[in-house]
Amino acid sequence: MPEKLIILGSGPAGLTAAIYASRASLNPLVIEGADPGGQLMTTTEVENFPGFENGIMGPELMAVMRKQAERFGTRFEIGNVAEVDFSGKVLTLKTNSKTFECESLIISTGASAKWLGLPSETRLRGKGVSACATCDGFFFKNKDIAVVGGGDSAMEEAIFLTRFANSVTIIARGDKLRASKTMQDRAHKNPKIKWLWNSVIDEVLGETVMTGLKIKNTVTGEMNEITMQGLFLAIGHEPNTKLFQGKIELDEKGYIKVKPFSTETGIPGVFAAGDVADHKYRQAISAAGTGCMAALDAERYLANKE
Ligand code: NDP
Repeated sequence: MPEKLIILGSGPAGLTAAIYASRASLNPLVIEGADPGGQLMTTTEVENFPGFENGIMGPELMAVMRKQAERFGTRFEIGNVAEVDFSGKVLTLKTNSKTFECESLIISTGASAKWLGLPSETRLRGKGVSACATCDGFFFKNKDIAVVGGGDSAMEEAIFLTRFANSVTIIARGDKLRASKTMQDRAHKNPKIKWLWNSVIDEVLGETVMTGLKIKNTVTGEMNEITMQGLFLAIGHEPNTKLFQGKIELDEKGYIKVKPFSTETGIPGVFAAGDVADHKYRQAISAAGTGCMAALDAERYLANKE
């Protein structure tokens, strides 16, 4: 017998979908994916998720959401889906060791911030290094920090961070920006923003917390060390949709296309929620909101089918 509903991914979107679907007696199965809990597992304190007056740690928030889903009977399976087939009467998902069949599917596999890939960056993640200004900016009051990237995200994050930081240095690997003119102008006008052109980060300095950056000039090859207490990566995000290429309609950036004000994809019975279908808002609360919508959409789809 196929499952009534499988939810792929266990971030805020997937778990909210699971809470709603299990309360609606759909007996959902969540396949957790490679990073159970999603992006919030790598953040520290979450202060903007409604309902937690004094904030909550990202991993704790995910643990509470998971318990809430379990309370209504959601089942969890650890596994990495490697192949999907949406061409048959039932939807098929395959991990290395198992095949799952379902009547409806909610895809909530999220997106991942791009990182530079330096070992020192990984070691100091959450200890000065972050990829989310909205999440972590508040912890950098009166500090000197850097933002790497030259797109709209980098401008937006840098401008936002000037609310807290003493100074924000934008590090661009070239001599011009990719950001829109409006965003560039806003950043240039901000007195707290400084610029480092033709520069790449060679190493993030610090043992237990970040203390500085080793910067390489891409034109001269010259190395410099600067004192900094924070580094924000804003070099883009990637939706986790490799699995769905050619199987479902994606937009030009690789995000799953959904109908306006809905979570319906082009495939009947397949819904998408959270960052995998949203390059604009990317917040835990908006992901949770679309997770709720996906569960309601799936519930209606199954009811109409019967
Ligand atoms: P983008 O892809 O537009 O920009 C990424 C930036 O990061 C580029 O400047 C790129 O440099 C740089 N970069 C990439 N890899 C590296 C690396 N390894 N080392 C150093 N620098 C690197 O991504 P964004 O997230 O900024 O924007 C994504 C989309 O979202 C865009 O379409 C943007 O317009 C939109 N957006 C709009 C906003 C708004 O309008 N308010 C706010 C945020 C995003 P290079 O230029 O040299 O390639």
